Amino acid sequence: MNFELTAKQKELQQKAREFAIKEVLPVARYYDEKNDFPMEVIKKAWEEKLLNLAIPQEYGGLGYGLMESIVVVEEIAAACPGIATSIFDNNLGAEPVIIGGNKEQKQRILTELVNEFTLIAFATSEPGMGSDVAGMQCLAEKEGDEYILNGTKYWITNAGYADYISVFATVDPEKRHKGIAAFIVPTDSEGVKTGAHIPKLGQRASNTCSVILKDVRVPKENVLAKPGFGFVLAMQTFAATRPAIGAFAVGCARSAMEYSIDYANEREAFGRPIVNYQAIQQKIADMYKNIQAARLLTYKAAWEADQGIDNNISSACAKAFASDVAMNVTTEAIQIFGGYGYIRTYPVEKLFRDAKLFQIYEGTSEIQRIVISRFATKQYEHGMPNLYDLPSADISEEQEGIDAQKESQKKVKKTSAELGGKYRCTVCGYVYDPVKGDPDGGIDPGTRFSDIPDGWVCPVCGAAKDQFQKI
Ligand code: FE
Repeated sequence: MNFELTAKQKELQQKAREFAIKEVLPVARYYDEKNDFPMEVIKKAWEEKLLNLAIPQEYGGLGYGLMESIVVVEEIAAACPGIATSIFDNNLGAEPVIIGGNKEQKQRILTELVNEFTLIAFATSEPGMGSDVAGMQCLAEKEGDEYILNGTKYWITNAGYADYISVFATVDPEKRHKGIAAFIVPTDSEGVKTGAHIPKLGQRASNTCSVILKDVRVPKENVLAKPGFGFVLAMQTFAATRPAIGAFAVGCARSAMEYSIDYANEREAFGRPIVNYQAIQQKIADMYKNIQAARLLTYKAAWEADQGIDNNISSACAKAFASDVAMNVTTEAIQIFGGYGYIRTYPVEKLFRDAKLFQIYEGTSEIQRIVISRFATKQYEHGMPNLYDLPSADISEEQEGIDAQKESQKKVKKTSAELGGKYRCTVCGYVYDPVKGDPDGGIDPGTRFSDIPDGWVCPVCGAAKDQFQKI
């Protein structure tokens, strides 16, 4: 086990940090206020090879793993989560092609993404569905070799500026996940229309808009996944990109913490900087430890993906945990700044607004918890025996502490097993040992459980005798 980044990863981290500070940070406030898409910044990121990190080398890409991607993402999100979302959206849009595309499609699309400044978006959500991917309504009708798309996609990042969109649609909404297919749709196709930039609470620099598809013809060479295979492709895409949302959240929270430390060192109250007060120190300690934990979960989810291990659960943990950390840290940052945190001249107000989206997009925090609880309650392999099968050792008399019982136990020469075994109360966990009996309840040492009269109840919780189970 090794928690250190490799030399190459550290170099990439440094490069991304320099880009974030030089190109993203100075314009973050501007694009947020203007509610506008930072095309120039995205283009520079492409020139610096910070876009399309996951494209394999055989298609001219960098062939980075998810670990490298999330190291970059954290740095850019630390400068502006909204711009980071727009930069990373190309990874999300291209991922279905990387995972599900055939050789020709990969050659055509991925090579173009690398060689020309090209944006590709990802579209599953619709006005009436988001996390419920199987509930999509956008129709794909087969006509000869082609598919004809009709419907509206919503919340589509970068759609207003994208050259391509990975569109998920269904041949029959009744079929739910079994009807979903996926297509590569160039945005200049006839019948594709994108809506206006949706004004958001935060991450306002990232372009989010609707995509209206009216009789859009998709030739067979642009079919990414046939009906029935699109749902799995969408899920595989999310598993590969979800750890990145954790990294966005870590970057956002990290900046909020760093600015809080800076402010607490300067701001004075009652004659000294507020960093000297325990109330502030405790908040900063919580921020620091939670960010560390969120980053470790995120690294683990990315590492698993790179090792080819199913990271469905770890990425759900990373995304849900890191998103909550970002929301919590940015909220506390505003508290440390006091009134200055609530106004737009300092950056924490923006980070707070930006952070809220992490709990919503790419599967809400509630959906992540459903995924996690389903695993924890049904599949997770326990280390301990079942609660109701807990072993109970026969302790020798010398070790027994209760003198009165010791005396009476001497008369019982048989072991618990020879006396029919011990029984556990399934309500409170109390164990009836026939060697000890239950003298307080009038049951003599040496009494088999089966010989206890029916009226007897559990001496701890009062449960009836039939509530006991042999152990
Ligand atoms: Fe009991």
